[in-house]
Amino acid sequence: MLDLETNVLNAYYIGSKYATLLNKLEIYTLKDLIYYYPIKYEDSRNVTNIEDIVIGEKNFIKGEVVYIKSIYTRNRKNIINAKINDDTGECNIIWFNQPYITKSIKEGDTIILGGIAYFEKNSIIFKSPQYEIVKEGKENIHFSRITPIYSQTKGITSKWLRSRIKNILDNINIEDYIPEEIKSKYDLLDINEALRKLHFPKTFEDIEKAKKRLGFEEILYIQILSYLKKQERKKKLSYRVIIDEKKISEFVDSLDFKLTPSQVRSINEIIKDINKNIPMNRLLEGDVGSGKTIVALITVYMMHLNKLQSAIMVPTSVLAKQHYETAKSVLKDIRIQLITAKTKRIDRSASIFIGTHALLSNKDIFKNLGLVIIDEQHRFGVRQRDMLIQKGYYPHILTMTATPIPRTLALGIYGDLDISRLDDMPKGRIKVKTYIVPNEKRNDSYKFIKDRIKEGEQAFILCPLIAESEKLQLKNVESEYKNLKENIFTEERLALISGKSKNKDEILDNFKNKKYDILVSTPIIEVGIDIKNATIIVIEDAERFGLAQLHQLRGRVGRSDKQSYCFLFTSASHNERLEFFSKNNNGLELAEFDLKMRGPGEIYGKNQSGNPDLKMASLLDASLIKMTRDAVVDIIEILDRYPKLKEKTREAQDRILTIN
Ligand code: ADP
Ligand code: MG
Repeated sequence: MLDLETNVLNAYYIGSKYATLLNKLEIYTLKDLIYYYPIKYEDSRNVTNIEDIVIGEKNFIKGEVVYIKSIYTRNRKNIINAKINDDTGECNIIWFNQPYITKSIKEGDTIILGGIAYFEKNSIIFKSPQYEIVKEGKENIHFSRITPIYSQTKGITSKWLRSRIKNILDNINIEDYIPEEIKSKYDLLDINEALRKLHFPKTFEDIEKAKKRLGFEEILYIQILSYLKKQERKKKLSYRVIIDEKKISEFVDSLDFKLTPSQVRSINEIIKDINKNIPMNRLLEGDVGSGKTIVALITVYMMHLNKLQSAIMVPTSVLAKQHYETAKSVLKDIRIQLITAKTKRIDRSASIFIGTHALLSNKDIFKNLGLVIIDEQHRFGVRQRDMLIQKGYYPHILTMTATPIPRTLALGIYGDLDISRLDDMPKGRIKVKTYIVPNEKRNDSYKFIKDRIKEGEQAFILCPLIAESEKLQLKNVESEYKNLKENIFTEERLALISGKSKNKDEILDNFKNKKYDILVSTPIIEVGIDIKNATIIVIEDAERFGLAQLHQLRGRVGRSDKQSYCFLFTSASHNERLEFFSKNNNGLELAEFDLKMRGPGEIYGKNQSGNPDLKMASLLDASLIKMTRDAVVDIIEILDRYPKLKEKTREAQDRILTIN
């Protein structure tokens, strides 16, 4: 039996050259290797008779090698010519530069091969096809079956992966953490069987069953965890907030806009929660610009009226500053403390604390923390969220996000959550017009921007990376800034902001106060920034971004009653995602589209090596999620009898969903 924790470097049948290549695929141990899932399958169960070969298409045939010979051309290239026949005919094969083939294939051998068939010089010919020798009594790995295809890297082929994975799967017996009774009740495969069926299925049904089992396990631990948390939470007492309706409506009336119906609805949902002494755990979802901040501030105000403190955590210092300013302007006469890495002195008697993760590193800030708000919550890990929450005595929790999560996904990831949705936009907003701009049309866009600037409007120009990366030829924000300033926008006033800038707040303030026309930036302005006079955003190398992120970026404009524009600069000739994006302004639909194209792992969670978490895209599978939720209830009852399962659940807590 093999030890699955063995490093691939130490496995004699892998070798150091391949181990290095595997590491590039984030495969470090044998376990990682068997959890390297196929991306698709090829069905070669039925071979074609030679007489039925379809020219120009991929064919699988099986026959006897009646001739094979290796020759070298004058310029020392190796060529192998072979002929194989079956009962119905004969065809030719040619392999280039693979001299070792004659070491393994001999005349008289039966082989299976797969490749495109050509018709040349009056005969059928396969050029460098994949092949496998058929041996009596030995099962084929590559052909005559449903064959897994893996995402490949240079130097590692699916064929190579298949044979190594097969070798491992034949020599292991993984301990299954899922109890027998659960497996039988929910019709789940044993883990060993599931992995074998996933890599070497006999039928397509095998693949489905394997995916079900592996997908089940992917979300199970998250679900158990959130179930336990919810039980725990229900037992806790938190502050019961008394609602002073008169004061609240006075406050709402003092705002210079009218709340949208969904803002009102969300506030009422929040009131219902915090008016009980069970801690609230609510996610406020609303598209970019839908007005989540004011909902948060009204909640904060209710806390303040109850003499309770609130903490608002945001992902960037720039956003913290902005929220701080907003809060100061609407919540007059209330003590508000901004906390970023730069903060030196903290007024602990403040009612409201607004800050970055610096909130976490400061000890004993709070006296009576009644409410924790996490803005752009998808940018924080579970750990960070919990750390802030633990600074209070079971505070109410409101998380906010503009990266909408389809409902099944939300249940899968966050299990124990109530959701409020802002599904309408403040009045008077005009849809941002989005255009894909190929290289040759760049100058038209620049001219357009100049014209808008003459009208007093402002623009963002966004570049993906700061570091010079020749290989990918991404726009370097610093050199692009120089280029724009010297060659294109010579008359306009430009500023540059990046993660490296020391005086970010000042730059943004100046931009907000119209001291600049154009702000050249990295994605640090991605979230939250609210500058109403900016009406244009240019995104360089747009194809590099996920749709949710593009949508966030686009949300930096269109914040007033002026028509706004988003230009997607790209050198990709055709890009389905960008096309979809340019026509769609709905964050939820965009997120779903991206999920289908890229999988939740890439968007909502990092796949760390060897952890099967969220690899199977199972989070989109509503019925699987429902089944898992049901199973959790059964498992909880017996969990004490299964210490290993309990342990796994705890481990899962440490690694799930740390995003960005
Ligand atoms: P997000 O949901 O993206 O965080 P914000 O809270 O930043 O959005 O709100 C975007 C802008 O809309 C802000 O300038 C805010 O003052 C404004 N706003 C919020 N609610 C309303 C409303 N009901 N009517 C008009 N403007 C609103
Ligand atoms: Mg916001």
